[in-house]
Amino acid sequence: MKEISAGGVVYRRVNGELQIQLIQDRYGKISLPKGKMEPGETVEQTALREILEETGMEGKIISPIDQIKYTYTHEAKGTVDKEVHYYLVEATGGKLQAQVEEIRGVEWFEPAEAWRRQKQSGYDNNDRILSGALRLLGLEVQGHG
Ligand code: ATP
Repeated sequence: MKEISAGGVVYRRVNGELQIQLIQDRYGKISLPKGKMEPGETVEQTALREILEETGMEGKIISPIDQIKYTYTHEAKGTVDKEVHYYLVEATGGKLQAQVEEIRGVEWFEPAEAWRRQKQSGYDNNDRILSGALRLLGLEVQGHG
């Protein structure tokens, strides 16, 4: 079966300093908030709804980043072909609060630290998403690829 999810790289500025949000997913990996599309939703709506549901943050879409594709095996669903659409999202409000049924945690990091954690404990295919977001924010990352 095919599954389409959407999510985002969420950022904010605190006293002029950029901060990037990372989550720890329910499998223990560093990742980005995302979730499955629901009927009648646009991908952008899915991304913002899932960010709010999983992390408590309200945001607005700044631009698309890219998509990733992967396959996993699910007990009931069998082989799942998954596509995740990611957006650059500016935090506009809300309160950081991990929704513990869906994710283990959520935190803000300065960009270099976010990149280090992604490289160390993230999914490889999210490297391109995070580096794309940092580039859109005018930052260059080291050790990409
Ligand atoms: P969603 O957040 O879209 O509702 P989910 O929690 O149902 O998703 P996934 O996060 O896609 O499902 O996780 C299903 C399987 O895929 C898990 O084994 C997970 O570790 C793995 N997985 C999650 N994200 C990635 C990724 N970016 N690349 C490869 N495998 C991933």
